[in-house]
Amino acid sequence: MDKQKLVLIVEDEKNIVDILRFNLQREGYATCEAYDGADGLEKARSEHPDLILLDVMLPKMNGFDVCRALRQEGDNVPVIILTAREEEADKVLGLEIGADDYITKPFSMRELVARVGANIRRTAMTAAASTAADSAMPVAGDLSINTDSHQVFRAGKAIDLTQREYELLTFLASHPNKVYSRVDLMEQVWNYGYVGDDVRTVDVTVRRLREKIETDPAAPVYILTRRGAGYYFSV
Ligand code: CA
Repeated sequence: MDKQKLVLIVEDEKNIVDILRFNLQREGYATCEAYDGADGLEKARSEHPDLILLDVMLPKMNGFDVCRALRQEGDNVPVIILTAREEEADKVLGLEIGADDYITKPFSMRELVARVGANIRRTAMTAAASTAADSAMPVAGDLSINTDSHQVFRAGKAIDLTQREYELLTFLASHPNKVYSRVDLMEQVWNYGYVGDDVRTVDVTVRRLREKIETDPAAPVYILTRRGAGYYFSV
């Protein structure tokens, strides 16, 4: 049997922690908990969880600051933001600071467990792909990708990408000139078997990726938009 995956729950409402712990353990996950943001950050560093469920409104340090701190330290652990607010701004902010996913309270336990599983599987698949012997990737212009080290270079200079940005880039780059709709990308890169408003996530990630890899993000040359169809990696 595979090693049990560890989920860190960072949430100050004890009844929510209890129900998350109960359901995750029933699904075979190990769990650990933190009831404020500072302790959450501490446990993320000390416990090395496979995934973090991160509430936004927390004592001592809010969830966005916890996520931002982890990313600044180079920790790419999958983070699912738990937000009580419906506002689109919150969701976008969470993605901007490097969260992998968000879920709005009140959430169904079934959906939450599905998302935890999808995010952990996606990380495992990326790790497996990176150890494959044949890791050659197309190189376009001054852009190159080393799939062994998970590094992307522009003009020989390493670019700092989040794991999701890296996965989106390598997925598109490994199918050059093939157009993928946002729904396709949700399924292929985000590993979701369903869609909806979430396709907005794809646009946000593409925009952030362009800001990092393109000389002029407003006139991209690598990741292009085919109007009404989707995105593709141009070579
Ligand atoms: Ca809270």
